[in-house]
Amino acid sequence: MLIILQSGAPDDVLQRVVERIEQLGMQAHISKGEFRTIVGAIGDENPQLPDILRSIEGVENVVPIMKPYKLASRDFHHENSTVTVGSATFGGGAPVIIAGPCAVEDRQMVRHIAKTVKANGAHMLRGGAFKPRTNPYSFQGLGEEGLKILQECREEYGLPVVTEITDPRNVELVCRYVDMLQVGARNMSNFVLLNEIGQAKKPVLLKRGPSSTVKDWLLSAEYILSGGNKKVVLCERGSRGFEDEMRYTLDVGAIALAKVDSHLPIIVDPSHAAGRRDLVGPLALAGLAAGADGIIVEVHTCPDKAKCDGPQALTEEMFAKLMQQINHLKEAMAVMVS
Ligand code: PEP
Ligand code: MN
Repeated sequence: MLIILQSGAPDDVLQRVVERIEQLGMQAHISKGEFRTIVGAIGDENPQLPDILRSIEGVENVVPIMKPYKLASRDFHHENSTVTVGSATFGGGAPVIIAGPCAVEDRQMVRHIAKTVKANGAHMLRGGAFKPRTNPYSFQGLGEEGLKILQECREEYGLPVVTEITDPRNVELVCRYVDMLQVGARNMSNFVLLNEIGQAKKPVLLKRGPSSTVKDWLLSAEYILSGGNKKVVLCERGSRGFEDEMRYTLDVGAIALAKVDSHLPIIVDPSHAAGRRDLVGPLALAGLAAGADGIIVEVHTCPDKAKCDGPQALTEEMFAKLMQQINHLKEAMAVMVS
């Protein structure tokens, strides 16, 4: 249920609405827009609720939220949300570029990659310390040692860091070292993990599961938002299709749809969608053209020797070229909007 306050309603109206919602055993979530304040009443709905709330002086209207997700929906928050991670702002207009290796393999390698991606204009560093692998015998990541390496690079190069969290028991540990938690595609429906992250203070990058609808994805975001963590950025990384020359099928339509149905920022991961480096650039550009607020790409100094996802890693030269293309695209898109 959405309670829309009259424009310019004083703070005590807001307070009265929140108190009433809580007395009725529901949670109140406030969304302050440029012109209006909206309060979302989330929880078991009492049939009397609309009339009770409508009778409060200063309330303009009470309307149901038609979507199954509430706090993630654009009905709840009309303007695009922004999420700030260190010096990077998702949804702030300029695309945020996240680059780095799939996995943190060793200190030298990550430092070198961090230095080059930063020199080419990346805003954030990625790298997995805990790797969710399909094969239990594949490299599973360096764990806490990997987190320490990421933290060192963050300090040395001034790049905020995002890393994947695979286990709800590690939330506190991972939060100690990095700036943003990544929920991987395989864990999009790990509701225990989502609940735990909802209690955390760190921004979250929520990937879409390979067989999940946009609605499922936004419901997963809702788990995190309803836990109190409002800093959620969505990430489209391809879904399971029938094409077998690519690892997954990048769903640019999902980017456009999520932008319409939700206020949350969204970025695109062309690396896991393509599974091969020659397609990463075109897919990154397609994602940005469809409205993505940034990209996350895998880059490696020596992709042939990568312990994880080598075939899809961009070389440093390819990354530099992609950055130039993104700058051209930004100019072309600025012309389109103006
Ligand atoms: C990753 O980012 O390295 C990763 C495992 O991604 P995904 O969860 O999209 O497969
Ligand atoms: Mn990977």
